[in-house]
Amino acid sequence: MTKFVFVTGGVVSSLGKGIASASLAAILESRGLKVTLIKLDPYINVDPGTMSPFQHGEVFVTDDGAETDLDLGHYERFVTTRMRKANNFTTGQIYKSVLEKERRGDYLGKTVQVIPHVTNEIQEFVRRGAAVGTPNEVDVAIVEIGGTVGDIESLPFLEAVRQMALKLGPNNSAFVHLTYVPFIKAAGELKTKPTQHTVQKMREIGIQPDALLCRADRIIPEDEAEKISLFTNVPKWGVISMPDVDTIYKVPRVLHEQGLDGLICDKLRLNTPPANLKRWDDLVYEVEHPKGEVNIAMVGKYVDLSDSYKSLNEALRHAGLKNHVHVKIDYVDSETITPDTVGQLAKYDAILVPGGFGKRGIEGKIGAARFAREHKVPYLGICLGMQVATIEYARDIAGLAGANSTEFDPHTPHPVIALITEWQDADGTIKTRTETSDLGGTMRLGAQSSDVAPGTLAHKIYGDVVTERHRHRYEANVKYLDTLRKSGLVISALTQREHLTEIVELPQDVHPWFMGVQFHPEFKSTPWDGHPLFNSFIHAACEHQANAQKSASGKPLKAVA
Ligand code: GLN
Repeated sequence: MTKFVFVTGGVVSSLGKGIASASLAAILESRGLKVTLIKLDPYINVDPGTMSPFQHGEVFVTDDGAETDLDLGHYERFVTTRMRKANNFTTGQIYKSVLEKERRGDYLGKTVQVIPHVTNEIQEFVRRGAAVGTPNEVDVAIVEIGGTVGDIESLPFLEAVRQMALKLGPNNSAFVHLTYVPFIKAAGELKTKPTQHTVQKMREIGIQPDALLCRADRIIPEDEAEKISLFTNVPKWGVISMPDVDTIYKVPRVLHEQGLDGLICDKLRLNTPPANLKRWDDLVYEVEHPKGEVNIAMVGKYVDLSDSYKSLNEALRHAGLKNHVHVKIDYVDSETITPDTVGQLAKYDAILVPGGFGKRGIEGKIGAARFAREHKVPYLGICLGMQVATIEYARDIAGLAGANSTEFDPHTPHPVIALITEWQDADGTIKTRTETSDLGGTMRLGAQSSDVAPGTLAHKIYGDVVTERHRHRYEANVKYLDTLRKSGLVISALTQREHLTEIVELPQDVHPWFMGVQFHPEFKSTPWDGHPLFNSFIHAACEHQANAQKSASGKPLKAVA
């Protein structure tokens, strides 16, 4: 029978509920339990796919093509269970489903209400997320409830899980509440009042937390912990400090040392072997002992908000661990890159153009790809980054003046990147999802496989087949493939189904490492093995750095990795 741990948050948002949930899941997994995680988002959007990265941070994509909250990225990086569409749902999805049922007459003429109809629907979605009653059923499902206790919009979720805990019976569910304990400088004290109030709010709703994770800039001293315990009715051993740490990979150890997993297993009557966090300790050791540093320029649009590139940042860091170097990422606003300023990229060991949408800053990204090609700087273009590399090559090498993507210039004389519907033959040879006016669900989404051409850099990295996740509308136009190929661009992978361009690269005798990929490899990187594409890219950055140092000093230097 699946047991549930509900994780809520209080006082303020952005306390790291996702990392706390993922860490608890990781510790339970190390105790031999089969776990999964589910994220409930209280907003009314059906999914985050149409939300600006400024609003929401990165949109994480699962194998089955769901556009989800970025916390699912943390989940996949922390535990071995893969996330699916069902692991993340929003108020929008709940209401959509309830309204569809109402229209179908499923409620048999009853008045449809938040309680019980919406709350029942939420419970149904939670059970589906945990795959209850299927072969994928887990021992423990950790359910993270987005938002902050006290918000109007998360109330139905809290009510639903309260009811669910009641129905599950004692010892089948636990509540963990993440709270904030601020240090007030003027008073020189940690303040427990916000925590007292947020737990009061929970108890008003009918939920008594079993454990409190107290976010603070330090360990909560005994006296304060006792006070929190007394006022919140949480036993002292349930008051757990979650101090700031310099790497998120320390959090499982911090929580385990204070007995969080023991407390949860006690409450849920789970008899397991003790936790074994050796792989986490090894990981932290690796993070703290790099043998060098590489500096990567990430040329993008959402440079002010590092959450927009969460998985990408992680993937680069994972590849750093694999190469024993610290990866320093400088976010370069592509709008600042012009022919006069592009020289600023010379100081970097590699250049990366990430995914993106819209015209703003596009010429700067094309300029960055040109700089990398001409100066033989390692270049990785992801999704949009692959498209700009193709446009640059078309314009500068293949002689296709004015080449562009129809996303940025609908009247370009050479639409080397375009919507399939814009270049599909009249006989409809290319069959795929077509564009509709509905903004959601018109993209190529989720995992797809491609064949990789032997002898290419991509083949060295991936072998014969690459399976990666997608999130884009535009494609490399098949009508230009021959022209581009003849002028020297290597098309190293085509999708198995529609023969769409997946990977482009420069010949290895022309450029040491230049690749554009139409997919998002960052979604599949884990801290354990990194990801082969990023590992290879960071290795190329290390070599570029070593060569640059060699030519600067005039004598050969050892490469850092
Ligand atoms: N805007 C481009 C497209 O829709 C690239 C998308 C992306 O980088 N994720 O195809």
